[in-house]
Amino acid sequence: MKVHLLRYSPSTDLRAALDKLAVADSEQLLIQVFTPSAKPHYVRGVLQELRQRYPAAVLIGASTSATIGEGGLSETDIVITLLAFEDARLRTSFVSFPENQTPDCQATGKSLGRAVASEDTHAVLCFAAGADLNAENLARGVMTALPNAVLSGCLASSAGAREVPFVCMGENMFSAGVVLVALSGRRLHARAWLSPDWMMLGTPMTVTEAEDNVVYTINERPALDIYHRYLGPESCDNMPATCSRFPLLTERNGHIVARPGKAVRPDGAVVLWGNLQRGESVRFGLLNPVSAMDQSQRLLDTLKRECCDVVLLFPSVARRLLMRSLTEDEVELFGTLAPVAGLFTTSQFLYTPEYPDYLHYAQTGLCLSEERGARKSSPLPELSQQYSRDTLELRVMSHLVNTTARELEAANQALERLANTDALTGIYNRHRAQRLLEQEYRRAQRYGRPLSLIMLDIDNFKKVNDSLGHQQGDKALKALARAIQPLVRDTDYFARWGGEEFLVICPETDLEGAHELAERLRSRVASRALLPNRTLTISVGVTTYRQEDTLDDLLSRVDRALYHSKQQGKNRVTVWR
Ligand code: GH3
Ligand code: MG
Ligand code: MG
Repeated sequence: MKVHLLRYSPSTDLRAALDKLAVADSEQLLIQVFTPSAKPHYVRGVLQELRQRYPAAVLIGASTSATIGEGGLSETDIVITLLAFEDARLRTSFVSFPENQTPDCQATGKSLGRAVASEDTHAVLCFAAGADLNAENLARGVMTALPNAVLSGCLASSAGAREVPFVCMGENMFSAGVVLVALSGRRLHARAWLSPDWMMLGTPMTVTEAEDNVVYTINERPALDIYHRYLGPESCDNMPATCSRFPLLTERNGHIVARPGKAVRPDGAVVLWGNLQRGESVRFGLLNPVSAMDQSQRLLDTLKRECCDVVLLFPSVARRLLMRSLTEDEVELFGTLAPVAGLFTTSQFLYTPEYPDYLHYAQTGLCLSEERGARKSSPLPELSQQYSRDTLELRVMSHLVNTTARELEAANQALERLANTDALTGIYNRHRAQRLLEQEYRRAQRYGRPLSLIMLDIDNFKKVNDSLGHQQGDKALKALARAIQPLVRDTDYFARWGGEEFLVICPETDLEGAHELAERLRSRVASRALLPNRTLTISVGVTTYRQEDTLDDLLSRVDRALYHSKQQGKNRVTVWR
């Protein structure tokens, strides 16, 4: 393949520059226009000129805060790449949608992917824009149609909140749309990669409520509170600017995946650029410029052994903010492989067998070539080691923060355990059960999911105490908890609600399921000697969440069902709808 890069500013004579390149129009010509978001007026002219001159070529583009190409980085210049493939075939698909209409991103991705898929598709390049677009779901959809290809590309970005990111297809620009190019061919060699660059900082936390890229609660507190607490109130006034530098990090498939904040909602939920799932462990992140550079050098050591005709580079906007002039050095490093073009962005698409996570916030790239195999290795330039001293404070600070956080975390966990467990039986106590119940109640209400409760009470327990003594009574309570625990699923919660009264919270369980479980609990208790030569029985109440229920309604109904079991002669289960 032949690779040509052009840098364009209003003073460039584009026609003359293109004349000089003398690239022939062809269906195998891929033209990419990477353009600063502030320049929609003159990018239109550039697109029109390119379209006129190359009517057969694939012409796509995306906006950014800074472009990469020929001679470094720029916040004002457009970078144009012309990739003339000899063997590879290009197929494109495209969709645009009204800005205020949220598309089903996974379905959109799937149909776009299907439209371009062929058996020998090696790589897919995707650019997307749209305020309501879920880029992770989009990429997931694309890859269901192209499971054997690698995915690269990014979301279009803008320099500031007032500018709207856009993608280009042909001579048109869209603020909400997706463009996909599939590269197929026997000779094509495509290598997509990622330079990891985030280090975890501070306390590990758990996402307790999230739906796609909206995080409602972390550690059971509104997500915004967590940002305020750890990043300071300024961070949120400035979302997304500040938060793009301090993303939430989680580990998936052995890699760190970063999720920067995008916006705050009035209810205290935080909208991210990518998805987080309930139950994922997260920590805030910090970019260490030194290790980022080291990673890039290590990566280059592998990449330089393979053929590469062009490098497309998609670094995160955070890299530009945090690595500053080092990003220029880095682009220069990649330039030793092949000509480099790219753009800074808030999200990068990447899917390879090694990185099956679809969406990233790091630095990703794509090396393309139509020659395969090893290439003559040229030595990498020596980099000045000056930068390692520049960031000593940063590394010391992160060490200090992390060590302190670990120590506090250990102390907190011990306290948390104490505050949430019942000292006698070791299961959840009432305080904890109440919080879990509130959480599950909210979930049931919000998503219309089933939620059932089982309340049980030991029959004639007073007699045990009276005849055998309080200590034996305690032993019986422990034995009962041990007998019941194995029957309860991992996703259920089993708690001591009061003296000899217990509660099982069963999320995602309907009335029949809870009834079955209650019956199993009752029969297991009745069939075991919880104390030497002595069996005990329990009375049980079961109910399930109804749409109009308050939490009190739900609790009082299960309590009354239990009372009914007592009245009916004990050792039985009452189920109330
Ligand atoms: P019913 O079948 O109607 O439930 O009768 P009951 O005797 O089980 O119920 P009641 O509420 O009259 O008595 C409950 C007893 O449980 C009284 C109380 O001393 C005992 N109890 C509560 N907590 C503990 C505890 O932690 N240890 C011991 N040993 N006994 C407890
Ligand atoms: Mg009792
Ligand atoms: Mg009782």
